[in-house]
Amino acid sequence: MIDLRSDTVTRPTNAMRQSMATAEVGDDVLGDDPTVRRLEEMAAEMLGKEDALFAPSSTQSNLIALLTHCGRGDEAIVGQEAHNYLFEGGGSAVLGGIQPQPICQEADGTLNLETVRSHIKPDDFHFARTRLLCLENTTWGKILPEGYSAKARNLADENGLSMHLDGARIFNAAIASGTSATDLAADFDSISVCLSKGLGAPVGSVLVGSHGFVKRGKRWRKMLGGGMRQSGILAAAGIYVLENNITRLAEDHDNAKRLEAGLSEIDGAEVDPVQTNMVLVKFSSEKPGLFEFLKSKNILVGGYGGEKLRLVLHLDISSSDVEQVIKAIRGFFA
Ligand SMILES: *Cc1c(COP(=O)(O)O)cnc(C)c1O
Repeated sequence: MIDLRSDTVTRPTNAMRQSMATAEVGDDVLGDDPTVRRLEEMAAEMLGKEDALFAPSSTQSNLIALLTHCGRGDEAIVGQEAHNYLFEGGGSAVLGGIQPQPICQEADGTLNLETVRSHIKPDDFHFARTRLLCLENTTWGKILPEGYSAKARNLADENGLSMHLDGARIFNAAIASGTSATDLAADFDSISVCLSKGLGAPVGSVLVGSHGFVKRGKRWRKMLGGGMRQSGILAAAGIYVLENNITRLAEDHDNAKRLEAGLSEIDGAEVDPVQTNMVLVKFSSEKPGLFEFLKSKNILVGGYGGEKLRLVLHLDISSSDVEQVIKAIRGFFA
């Protein structure tokens, strides 16, 4: 199978399994797991923040962040298609009493800051208290433009908001833009980083921020059931991918560019300009059955609204797989 549905489908390699099998562990709820601690210190250092906590998923680390920044009756400004608004079951509203204020993203993935400003509520008991601005990088494979988060930070500071970054794929943004993850994270109070997307760990996410933020976050993590015991077994995979799988993300980006070029040659194909590891494509010809056809060729792809396909590159997809996919899609429309 050539599985392009998501970069979550990667399988742990033998070398990664070896590092998991030999990890030194302890009870992390009691603060005794040296491998978890090492992962947290590594992540904090790489993102330029004071501390970090290891969570089972990015859904949970985003939720911990929202619960830590906002209380009941507070409001978080989020992207209309942001993961932590659209794809996390409404967790912050359900479990935190936090009101999301969604804003439609611009084509480049940003939230228009004047629109954000106009949605910050005045201090008046009719309104929820706007407390947090959430951004995402990358968002649908797009990198937030240089200088944008600094402007967002100014707006946040003028209005007493905190800023959280869903940086599930922040290392894709760093590698593709040539900007360090520390710089990409600098304007945010907290950043959630997914270890199990393109980096290739089987499980896990790290949430980074100040000492005080992480301390408060750990309370929420416990309440959400994310306090894990000998989780150094999982953290070892996280350390492995941070040490071995960041620079190679460039290969996924090259493969995505190759796919973009190949698909663009098909009549009626509209391919969104590729920036990282995601290819979004729409075909204007109304020919049904593409998903099923590809499946019959052992190729799995994702959907993105209507007829748009989402093809995500990752470390289990080779350049020859990409050629096969181009050939199959060309064949379908020929
Ligand atoms: C996948 C993803 C998440 C959630 O990650 P899980 O570990 O699957 O819960 C959060 N944000 C973004 C942008 C994602 O792509």
